[in-house]
Amino acid sequence: MKTTSTALIVGASRGLGWGLAREYLRRGWRVIGTVRDGGGDTPLHRLRAEAGGALEIEQVDITRPEAVARLATRLDGRRLDLLFVNAGVSNDPAAPAGAVSTDEFNRVMVTNALSPVRVVEALAPLVAPDGRIAVMSSELGSVALNDDGGWEVYRASKAALNTLMRSLVARRAGDTRTHYVVAPGWVRTDMGGADAPLDIETSMPGVADAIEFRRGTPGLVYVNYRNEILPW
Ligand code: NAP
Repeated sequence: MKTTSTALIVGASRGLGWGLAREYLRRGWRVIGTVRDGGGDTPLHRLRAEAGGALEIEQVDITRPEAVARLATRLDGRRLDLLFVNAGVSNDPAAPAGAVSTDEFNRVMVTNALSPVRVVEALAPLVAPDGRIAVMSSELGSVALNDDGGWEVYRASKAALNTLMRSLVARRAGDTRTHYVVAPGWVRTDMGGADAPLDIETSMPGVADAIEFRRGTPGLVYVNYRNEILPW
């Protein structure tokens, strides 16, 4: 009997996370998508109205460890085929690191680097032995590709996320799951802005294909929406 695969997408209220939820629903998956606020009026809520019961909505602010722990408790006993931590924030791309306040630096670093890894630590026990664990990084997180500067604090946060994921996977030698840090391309969303060359409809199916392509291969890859491996 064919069983339905389940994806948990953390940070799915709008933008890429919403697009990823829609893509997995189209592929016949059951999706649990999270929103930060419980207000109930996000693109994800509107998607649920069309999803015929295949989309559940949970709530978590990834910067609040107690909220992450409560989510793990609520989902206890569920089996996930994919955990995808998408949530992230940006800041002024033109601001040099030295000009950014400590609070602003902490906000970006804690949201983009520390919190996704905490979510992975808390929810990985729910992911099946042949499952997949992904975080949304960026090509800007590549130290090797940083020749043109800009986005200094955001870049640093995604480079830190990449390094923390490498450490996590290195620590868990013998883990049979496939891990990914994903670069979605520059995409038109609230964060990406109107000038981005890609739309969600192009990027998210590419991301889902790249994840599927490496299914069953333990370890960690840094991969983009075109299924190309990126240099760290
Ligand atoms: P977006 O439109 O600004 O959406 C960001 C998403 O993250 C929203 O669902 C937001 O929830 C959620 N989020 C932010 N902080 C959160 C927190 N503390 N707890 C829980 N959820 C939180 O951005 P996007 O363009 O879709 O980006 C999604 C991811 O892709 C980010 O990690 C971003 O860095 C990465 N990325 C984007 C691009 C691009 O070109 N768009 C390129 C490379 C990488 P709320 O609705 O509650 O704010």
